[in-house]
Amino acid sequence: MSDPILTHRSTDMAIVSGALQPTDRDPDLLSLRPERLDDYVGQAEVVETLKIAIEAAQLRSEPLEHVLFHGPPGLGKTTLAHIIANEMGGTLTVTSGPALEKGGDLIGILTHLGEADVLFVDEIHRTPKTVEEFLYPAMEDFAVDFVFDKGIHARSHRYRLKRFTLVGATTRVGLLSAPLRDRFGIFRNLDFYGIDDLVHITMRSAALLDVRIDKPGAEELAKRSRGTPRIVNRLLKRVRDYTQVRADGTITQETVEAALALEGVDAQGLTQLDRRYLKTIIDFYGGGPVGIEAISATLQEESDTLVDVVEPYLLKIGMVIRTSSGRRVSDIACRHLGVPVQQKLF
Ligand code: ADP
Repeated sequence: MSDPILTHRSTDMAIVSGALQPTDRDPDLLSLRPERLDDYVGQAEVVETLKIAIEAAQLRSEPLEHVLFHGPPGLGKTTLAHIIANEMGGTLTVTSGPALEKGGDLIGILTHLGEADVLFVDEIHRTPKTVEEFLYPAMEDFAVDFVFDKGIHARSHRYRLKRFTLVGATTRVGLLSAPLRDRFGIFRNLDFYGIDDLVHITMRSAALLDVRIDKPGAEELAKRSRGTPRIVNRLLKRVRDYTQVRADGTITQETVEAALALEGVDAQGLTQLDRRYLKTIIDFYGGGPVGIEAISATLQEESDTLVDVVEPYLLKIGMVIRTSSGRRVSDIACRHLGVPVQQKLF
């Protein structure tokens, strides 16, 4: 059985997916995480909501209400859980829905939490139903109910937990059951970051990594990062290597372009997988509309990867349109790929 604590998604997605990659665990990248709300770039409304809620909880000497974050991978959900624990003066425990295989896995974690501690459950929509049922009394009454024996001999014993805060993260809020969703006091959506915020994050990360980068270089990197801080940081490291080996060490627009061409990242930040996805719809399905399962079968990629990682950004920049009869590519996508718009059959 896998260890439910500190386990993370294991995926083999490409360098520019927002999903967590093994290299994201290296100390350089971990040190790039902002520690406090004041250092967190962007998502102004989310930050303001959390500031008010944390201050109010502290004034009342109460734990912070349970918080649910929704949004594509790499936008800062785990980072916010770390920050909440820091701001509340508690310890963070990290787990994920799929790692909680049995009720006992969750109970083991819950009974070790202290007052004001934060339990972060990534991919909370993938928590097994039998485990989820232990979350209800834990979230609502800070208790777990142990049931002994069965049938008419069944007895239950209620174990009191310390008043902790659950921070849940999900890429698919629609898959969360209503009883679980209703137990969160704060629910916030994280959206893709704008260029100014990404430039800010690039500059901040470059300073922490002691890398020189000029403004046009930072802007180019920001433009190619699919609105995602995790991708900014990952590409920054790739470009840093390139610049040290092939140039004079200062990252410029030219070195970003050259380094990212080698990574298969184009001027819009689209990856090979993004382009294959769009080309599949155009070449095999006449531009769409087509269902996700058909695209996934043709591409031989998991439909979850397409829905969670590939599509959100393509929808955001208007390259894909979702209709009731499926996905279809837009004129913007055709122009970007150099495919004549009139060739589409829809
Ligand atoms: P998620 O949990 O949503 O997949 P993470 O919280 O792990 O994303 O964020 C990925 C990385 O991006 C973090 O290691 C952090 O360095 C960086 N990051 C995320 N959000 C921000 C932000 N608002 N400001 C600066 N860096 C950020």
